[in-house]
Amino acid sequence: MKFIDEYHNPELGKRLIDRIHHHSTKPIRLMEFCGGHTVAIFKHGIRQLLPTTIDMLSGPGCPVCVTANVDLDKAIALARLPNVIITTFGDMLRVPGSYSSLQLAKAERSDIRVVYSVQDALGIARDNPDKSVIFIGIGFETTAPTIAASILQAEQEGIDNYYVLPLHKLCPPIMKALLDLGEVRLDGIICPGHVSAIIGSYPYQFIPDDYGIACVVSGFEPLDILLCVDRLVNQIETGQYKVEIAYLRGVKPEGNKHALKLMGTVFEVCDANWRGVGLVPLSGLRLNKRYQRFDAERSFDIDPGPTHEAKGCICGSILRGVSTPQDCKLFRRSCTPEHPVGPCMVSSEGSCATYYHYGDSYGR
Ligand code: SF4
Repeated sequence: MKFIDEYHNPELGKRLIDRIHHHSTKPIRLMEFCGGHTVAIFKHGIRQLLPTTIDMLSGPGCPVCVTANVDLDKAIALARLPNVIITTFGDMLRVPGSYSSLQLAKAERSDIRVVYSVQDALGIARDNPDKSVIFIGIGFETTAPTIAASILQAEQEGIDNYYVLPLHKLCPPIMKALLDLGEVRLDGIICPGHVSAIIGSYPYQFIPDDYGIACVVSGFEPLDILLCVDRLVNQIETGQYKVEIAYLRGVKPEGNKHALKLMGTVFEVCDANWRGVGLVPLSGLRLNKRYQRFDAERSFDIDPGPTHEAKGCICGSILRGVSTPQDCKLFRRSCTPEHPVGPCMVSSEGSCATYYHYGDSYGR
């Protein structure tokens, strides 16, 4: 198939749905790791099309949502420094930290600018040599290579007022951490397509090998997701657990070698704080010694103060798959997209925002 319409073909979709109904005999629970998958599943009503034997659960794959308050507070503290311009993707602006948000800091006259790519941030640094320009580096393996490229470019051009606050997270280690927590029983995982386009499918091999859980990489169109579920059901029903790619137009088993090399040049693996989980060993990226001078946290003296969680917000347990937005007493009451209490209601890929926009009934 070449065109996007073909991945929405109702005839092919019906055939896949029929096949899933035919093959799925025992109750199973699948987790879609990625918030982009959650949105696609809700938008296309996929949960309702699946047999009642299949229980679907949303995972922690929303980079804005998993950024811990302690790290959001650092971004807000950096924004309050004089002669600093903060550059960030739009979703981050409204995410509440412990006591404030970047949006509030902007209202208090901090210079905070929304950018659509990290190249825009580099351009702002080029145009403002008398200011320090800091890019808030959130995201999974998908965004890390472009941020690495921006640092290499800054070095090459001699742009010495450009910095990154490195809050990048890695997917396989948090998957392992969730499986080790053992709070939710899983039979299969829908692995993230965009992340896998960078890292490939090999890093997921521990999931079938060590945990006996089915594992399929999926794209984001309805037929991609149905094909992925079909493959997961097949693995579970036959007891043959492995890593499969149901997104061959986007993902190679070895990943994108050029992007991985860029990441490896600039970053090194470190422990990282995840909302709802805490410190997870070797689950983040920081600038390596050679590029530490671009690290905003190391370059500026900040005191973000004590961290604090919003009362009543259960984003942490939603990200671990233990709860759903419907379990939160604030959902649709004091927490809405206009007045979000937690990050899962802010981000376009957050579970709470998805349930809010597409209707709770889609949660089944
Ligand atoms: Fe947090 Fe709001 Fe979601 Fe509740 S509905 S978990 S308060 S983001």
